[in-house]
Amino acid sequence: FFLSFLSFSLDFLFKFLVIGSAGTGKSCLLHQFIENKFKQDSNHTIGVEFGSKVVNVGGKTVKLQIWDTAGQERFSRETYNALTNWLTDARTLASPNIVIILCGNKKDLDADREVTFLEASRFAQENELMFLETSALTGENVEEAFLKCARTILNKIESGELDPERMGSGIQYGDASLRQLRQPRGAQAQSRQQCSC
Ligand code: GDP
Ligand code: MG
Repeated sequence: FFLSFLSFSLDFLFKFLVIGSAGTGKSCLLHQFIENKFKQDSNHTIGVEFGSKVVNVGGKTVKLQIWDTAGQERFSRETYNALTNWLTDARTLASPNIVIILCGNKKDLDADREVTFLEASRFAQENELMFLETSALTGENVEEAFLKCARTILNKIESGELDPERMGSGIQYGDASLRQLRQPRGAQAQSRQQCSC
C-alpha cells in the first residue's frame, strides 16, 4: 500500500540530449537541474551519462530523461563558433523536428563575456531555436531552460505538430496516457459523445 501511495502516474517521457563543446558546463547544468546544486569537482564526462527528473508542465506529469554527452575540448568564443556544427548534427542525426533550446551558460562570468546577448539571440532567431542565458553556478534559468523546452514539446504534441508515436520522436507515453488510450472502445465512444467538438 505504501509503495502504491508513493507512486505517481506519468503522462509522458521526453528524451533530452545536452550537446555542445567540452567545458561549456553541460554536466554542471544537468547536475544543477537534478540536484539543485553546483557540482564543484566536475570531472570530464566520459562517453554518455544520464539523469532524470519528473516535472509538472501544463498540468501534465512528465519525466525528463536527460542524456549528457562528452565532446571535444574547446574554449570561449570557439564554443559559439561551433554551434552550427552541433545544430547540423542534432537535426540530421536526431530529427529535423526536434525542439532545441540554446543555452549561453556561465552567465555569472559576465566580465569575461565574449558573445553578446544580442548576437546569440539573433543566431537563435535565425536558426529557429529558443534561447536563454544560464548559470549552472548560481542556478539562474537552469530549471527554466528545461521547463521551457518541455512546455514547447507538450504544446507541439497537443497541436499535432509532434507525433509521440513516430519512431525516434524522443517521446513516450507514460502509464497515465496509456490508460486513457487503452480505454475500452465503448468508453471512448461515450467520452467522444460527451465532447462538444
Ligand atoms: P562540460 O564539459 O560541458 O560537461 O562542462 P562541465 O560541466 O564539466 O564544466 C566545465 C567547467 O566549467 C567546470 O570547471 C565547471 O566548474 C565550470 N562551470 C560550469 N558551469 C558554470 C557556470 O555556470 N559558471 C561558472 N562560473 N563556471 C561553470
Ligand atoms: Mg561533461
